[in-house]
Amino acid sequence: MDKPDILVPRPLMRSILKVLDRDYTAHKLWEMADPDAYLGSVAQRIRGIASGPSARVDASLVDRLPNLQIVANFGVGYDSVDARHCGRRGIVVTNTPDVLTEEVADTALGLLIMTARELSASERYLRAGKWESDGPYPLTPGTLRGRKLGIFGLGRIGKAIARRAEAFGLEIHYHGRRRQEGVAYPYHESLTELAGACDTLMIVAPGGADTRHTVDRDVMEALGPNGILVNIGRGSVIDEQALIMALKEGVILAAGLDVFEDEPHVPAELIALDNVVLLPHVGSASIHTREAMGNLMLDNLATWFEEGRAITPVPETPAG
Ligand code: NDP
Repeated sequence: MDKPDILVPRPLMRSILKVLDRDYTAHKLWEMADPDAYLGSVAQRIRGIASGPSARVDASLVDRLPNLQIVANFGVGYDSVDARHCGRRGIVVTNTPDVLTEEVADTALGLLIMTARELSASERYLRAGKWESDGPYPLTPGTLRGRKLGIFGLGRIGKAIARRAEAFGLEIHYHGRRRQEGVAYPYHESLTELAGACDTLMIVAPGGADTRHTVDRDVMEALGPNGILVNIGRGSVIDEQALIMALKEGVILAAGLDVFEDEPHVPAELIALDNVVLLPHVGSASIHTREAMGNLMLDNLATWFEEGRAITPVPETPAG
């Protein structure tokens, strides 16, 4: 049997590309001198797309591929894929849930502690020789002690963060589109209400149009001057310009960010601020977890082409 043709719009991990090259006819678009002309020449043959966060699988790309059956996304967040459009066309989209949950929750807690206790700034202090020259690092206004943590997006990762935060003695509240059965944490109908009830806000909701800029100036004002905002979800959820102003004006105390609106571009104004901890989207970025994600993505493609079913389809598209 012919190997299925798979479009790979942007680079993926070498171990994934190795399997794609072995089991499929992989069309690596970024290697082509004229990607658009190349895509036109192979469009009829493409039956799958292997995509990652840097590949935009929008309606116009999907509509150029009449025989497309599956978009296998590397990552649990699939806001770079127009899943609703795929759903309407009967194309299945898969993501990589669960296998990264604990890793991302670990990173989220690390980022929260770094932010509250100024751990990056104090390390910079030591490396600059200031401990010896100027004495001890100043006491931090921030602490985890007594904090109330509001979680926006109490899903798989949100719950793993909540478990850890409970062990640290934090009180947990949450907001999402609905109150969840069997969850005892207080639920808040709006993000502003959640922020008003807490002093620490953890964003772990998906990106996309529905959540875009939902964390705005009002939410930050509700969080208050002792407020800490951590974003491990998607950069688009926070109004980045409003956040910069809020950090400069002391509307909130500090922020910890793993994700940004226009990655890998991080505004110079954020980089210049000392009350923000900035990570280059490393939430799931260990070899262990990225390999597990790669294996799940490849397993989705394999079961689709061998058995006609996907393992982890997203809710907007057919289950297969
Ligand atoms: P889940 O689907 O399990 O959880 C998402 C949660 O967000 C749900 O509880 C959902 O609750 C809530 N939510 C609020 N608004 C929306 C909306 N408009 N659409 C969908 N859900 C919404 O996902 P995971 O916990 O596995 O992952 C969450 C997100 O974390 C990913 O989408 C991704 O963007 C991000 N992520 C970031 C990583 C990083 O490296 N920084 C790594 C992995 C994931 P309800 O349905 O009640 O609204």
